[in-house]
Amino acid sequence: MSQLPDRISRLEELARDLWWSWTPEARHVFRRLDYPLWRLTAHNPVRMLRVIAPDTLAQAIANPAWLAQYDRAMARLDETRAARNTWCARECPELAGRSVAYFSAEFALHQSLPIYAGGLGVLAGDHCKEASDLGIPLVGVGFMYPQGYFHQTISADGWQQEVYEKLSWTDAAIEPAMTPDGKPCVTAVPLGSRTVLLAVWRVRAGRVTLYLLDTDLEENAPWDRDLSARLYGGDRETRVQQEILLGVGGVRALKAVGITPAVYHLNEGHAAFAVLQRIRDLCETGWAFEAALEEVRRTTVFTTHTPVAAGHDTFPFHLVEKHLTGAWGEFGPYREKFFALAHHDTGDGPMFNMTALALRTAGATNAVSALHGEVTRRMWSAIWPGTLPERLPVRSVTNGVHASTWISAEIRALLDRYLGPDWIDHHDDPAFCEGVLGIPDEEIWHARQTLRAFLFTFIRERARHRWTKSGASASHIVASGTMFDHTALTIGFARRFTGYKRPDLIFADADRLAHVLNAHGRPVQVLFAGKAHPADDVGKHHLQQIYRRVLDPKFGGRIAFIEDYDLHVAHFLVQGCDVWLNNPRKPLEASGTSGMKAAINGTPHLSIGDGWWAEGFTGDNGWLIDGQADPNDHGAQDWADAQAIYRLIEEELVPTFYDRDANGIPRRWLQVVRQSIRTVLPRFSARRMVKEYVRGMYQPALGQQPVTK
Ligand SMILES: *Cc1c(COP(=O)(O)O)cnc(C)c1O
Repeated sequence: MSQLPDRISRLEELARDLWWSWTPEARHVFRRLDYPLWRLTAHNPVRMLRVIAPDTLAQAIANPAWLAQYDRAMARLDETRAARNTWCARECPELAGRSVAYFSAEFALHQSLPIYAGGLGVLAGDHCKEASDLGIPLVGVGFMYPQGYFHQTISADGWQQEVYEKLSWTDAAIEPAMTPDGKPCVTAVPLGSRTVLLAVWRVRAGRVTLYLLDTDLEENAPWDRDLSARLYGGDRETRVQQEILLGVGGVRALKAVGITPAVYHLNEGHAAFAVLQRIRDLCETGWAFEAALEEVRRTTVFTTHTPVAAGHDTFPFHLVEKHLTGAWGEFGPYREKFFALAHHDTGDGPMFNMTALALRTAGATNAVSALHGEVTRRMWSAIWPGTLPERLPVRSVTNGVHASTWISAEIRALLDRYLGPDWIDHHDDPAFCEGVLGIPDEEIWHARQTLRAFLFTFIRERARHRWTKSGASASHIVASGTMFDHTALTIGFARRFTGYKRPDLIFADADRLAHVLNAHGRPVQVLFAGKAHPADDVGKHHLQQIYRRVLDPKFGGRIAFIEDYDLHVAHFLVQGCDVWLNNPRKPLEASGTSGMKAAINGTPHLSIGDGWWAEGFTGDNGWLIDGQADPNDHGAQDWADAQAIYRLIEEELVPTFYDRDANGIPRRWLQVVRQSIRTVLPRFSARRMVKEYVRGMYQPALGQQPVTK
């Protein structure tokens, strides 16, 4: 790294606190420092500072405007870290001096830290950022996967290739976590008949700190060093070991860095082994098993994320036994009781079920949308025999997205102007957001046009890079969207490629689709992006089908596939498309969040009434797909839903979008755009969501009397 001039000696500190990524004043410091380098590094200031030319730094400190920006950002950072009068301090004083530990297998904070695969990670990242904004003393616990999640390329015949890259540690905003006596923190976890060491890394995100576990230590055997190498990369055996490390190791790591959480929040069942470690810790100090379980339950909250059966981790008992033997220790006599907590049979015989374990050991559980709540209560009623479904202790906290992260600079500027510069402080208040209706058509249309242009510039730059650097074929370049028309109605579909999301639904009637896309003078184009899980051949097959369609001349080059969907690509897509398509098989989409990110940028949702859209659709803020077919006949349902999509595009979207006044402005379209922002920004913000977690889940846990031995 170049030596930083004294005047800006804290720039590295700013780069190493991901708070910069959602704070415009701080982003500008890096953007304006060296814009080409900012783009070249995909907005990674740690890397920027490592490779930046000393001359550029010298120029920067000679530039009073940039220096003023730097000073403002540093002052804001200090203010943020020191703030006493936060929402949490006012509304939840019982958290003062205590902390909430948030366990998650993935966190999506920024593209420079590739420790996430999709929606679950984005939710965790947004939760942490909002917790920081609200002043909630939250610490995240997860993995520092050295190879992270894979990068995706698509072969000439449309098959997904997974490329794993070892993370460059010098380019990531991570540093060793320290113990209270100032040593790098390493913790040990008994696994089978051996002990695996975990290094603990620290990531700063404003007021929130993440502690990330990593087995890649020289002291570990080679196969153990690889345990944390990849997110969701291994077989069942790797998976159960990873989950033991996350739960058991996570609790131990917190202890080692000197943190005693008041509440444990398990984000999905992956971390449920944490309860084993906690029960064990209590039993070792003389607690009876039942009392220890009660105490753990009092302080544990659990969020379940999927109504898809395969989405819940299950293991044969012998596999868990094999890897837990070392951890039992003194706890051995309670082995049967612990297994009973995770026992669940979905018809294929009893299994060790991570969700069942979490449901039985958490004092409060929530699903992630109202509809998902109903489905979850039905799905897991066997856990509470004899209790009526509506009485089950599963509530709903609908997901939300972190506005400062997902809103574009263009829409932000309009909100600054028409809602006031401190709109972010009030944006979860629906009455306050009425102000969106006052934004003039001309300005909002200008912002929308700009965002679409940014998206197409991004697509072309990527294609150019592929073309020059790796000699991509001409058809590859076409497939990446380079023939797209920057004024045409653009539909986006980007998410994980998995069966229930029906990524290829829109191709159900290919001739009809070709007709819709190629309408003379009123073209429509569709952008796809998304990864299939490396072990999911069905998902990859869907992806291949789509890739073949992309190359089919019948669709006129109006369909494209953007490779390597990640947070960076997601930003361009949700902001730059005109419409966001979502067509899962109801009710399998627990919530979905990409449509919220799009909607708050004025990209209205065109969706099945599943997940959040079942409560988000108001009649005038987007469109509802409902083929009205028998849900038990999947073939008929797919066909009917696809027909409903074509009908909506032809009869509603296209006429509204292309209906321009004398100034070329689509007045009716912009009414939908405005309603989309007005209704979705307050109700589906992470701010509303995190406040609900505090009031409905954390506060009740804090208010209960501790159980005694
Ligand atoms: C938001 C997001 C998701 C989740 O999208 P869904 O529509 O909820 O499935 C997945 N991946 C990335 C990179 C995202 O930004």
